Amino acid sequence: MLKRPRMRKLVAGNWKMNGLRADGVALARDLAGRARAVPPPCEIAICPPATLLIPVGEALAGSVIMLGAQDCHAAEMGAHTGDLSATMLRDAGCRYVILGHSERRADHHETDSDVRAKVAAARQARLVPIVCIGETQDERAAGKTLDIISRQIKGSLPPGLPGADLVVAYEPVWAIGSGSTPTVAEVADVHAHIRRTLSAAARILYGGSVKPANAKELMAVANVDGALVGGASLVAAQFWAIAEACG
Ligand code: PEP
Repeated sequence: MLKRPRMRKLVAGNWKMNGLRADGVALARDLAGRARAVPPPCEIAICPPATLLIPVGEALAGSVIMLGAQDCHAAEMGAHTGDLSATMLRDAGCRYVILGHSERRADHHETDSDVRAKVAAARQARLVPIVCIGETQDERAAGKTLDIISRQIKGSLPPGLPGADLVVAYEPVWAIGSGSTPTVAEVADVHAHIRRTLSAAARILYGGSVKPANAKELMAVANVDGALVGGASLVAAQFWAIAEACG
């Protein structure tokens, strides 16, 4: 069996629909200052709302923290009022784009094949997609977690995607913003299942109520290559503590 290449963990902050310019820029400056003072033990990305990509990108300039977006359209340009293409996001300084988040799957009825088209567009624009998958509470209770994960991976990822340019985030829908997380054994099982279906070079993040208090044990689980963080990414000290837990 091939040995997995050593890879740095990635901690990505999903600010969702939070932040006006002054607060967002202050948060980004705070994080950039921390990264300059003490190099973090992992890669870090922050994904602000689209209105803040440019000022947050400017606040991060010269720091190791990367910029990401929260969604993109599958087309490169054209008559899609209100949408942003992957090429535009790349042009705005993004390295990453979150795709298929459960909130978009629910609020905007995004299907696996929608997500797959967006992943292809992101790769075409040289963005690294962070593709979110995860089961609902009912699916978990029905014992369907691994089936759902397999179906979402198969449906949401274009075939032949190079693993080094792919991040998959396992985010149980019921754990997002709820304060509940699966046990470390459950996370280990699902991540091992995901790993079996992906190239060894792909990074698999855990997301869903990651906090400073549980980050160390979650980040130590086999095949957990980092975290996708929602609520705690809005507080510099908390987000930073999660990044430090990867050391
Ligand atoms: C998320 O929505 O991607 C997320 C992980 O949220 P939270 O950390 O708040 O559960």
